[in-house]
Amino acid sequence: DLTLTSLAKRFGENTVLENLDLHVRDGEFFTLLGPSGCGKSTTLTSIAGLHTPDRGTIAFGDRVVFDAGRVDVAPERRNCGVVFQSYAVWPHLSVHDNVAYPLKLRRVGRSARAARVREVLDLVELGPYGKRYPHELSGGQQQRVALARALAHPPDLLLLDEPFSNLDAKLRERARDWLRRLQRRIGVTTVFVTHDQDEALSMSDRIVVLDAGRVRQIGTPEEIYHAPADEFVADFVGTVN
Ligand code: ATP
Ligand code: MG
Repeated sequence: DLTLTSLAKRFGENTVLENLDLHVRDGEFFTLLGPSGCGKSTTLTSIAGLHTPDRGTIAFGDRVVFDAGRVDVAPERRNCGVVFQSYAVWPHLSVHDNVAYPLKLRRVGRSARAARVREVLDLVELGPYGKRYPHELSGGQQQRVALARALAHPPDLLLLDEPFSNLDAKLRERARDWLRRLQRRIGVTTVFVTHDQDEALSMSDRIVVLDAGRVRQIGTPEEIYHAPADEFVADFVGTVN
């Protein structure tokens, strides 16, 4: 599981995260939902170790990976698979080499590497595409390459920051269902970021609704939709009273 305790971050006068407390259970598909600028990406990059909060702690199970001023485990030692909104794959590497890269970094031998790349490319349904280059793929296929790369060395946590926002509406809907099935199948604990309430409601085990770096509500999609904690949540998820 993943536990954030009193996580806080400011940029100058701007308080981006204010004493954020979150607990994500093992195997859960957990979504950070909120309007632009509410701190979703900052939370995700803090978990990944790509930037440093001012206060608070982050623990993976009982392993503390961040404790302000005391512990700050490097990103490559946190074993998170991360997929961002864009620029997710290296244009100068083939699909195969993109996916093999994290395995190479970890000194996985050549034949084990090739076998694992085949396995994850099959998982994301890109089996025959290993030799292609990113520019020869659609946007959705490129995001699947990024996902394969994030999964190549099985991550303890999968972190996804608006991975579908570049896809058109129809593809996005298909990608949701597909990703959700895949996540269930492999059971990897997932933190998913979106500002799209439909996406959050249709995919998540639980959702946290954030507003200006603060938690408004944490609950299942049913709870968030049918029993919003306040006006802000009701407005944001479009509950009809
Ligand atoms: P979006 O839905 O638009 O991606 P978000 O919820 O992911 O928004 P963040 O990217 O976490 O929001 O940003 C939260 C706030 O922190 C914003 O007000 C943003 O301007 C500010 N911010 C983020 N990174 C920096 C930075 N490096 N320097 C200064 N301010 C920053
Ligand atoms: Mg963001």
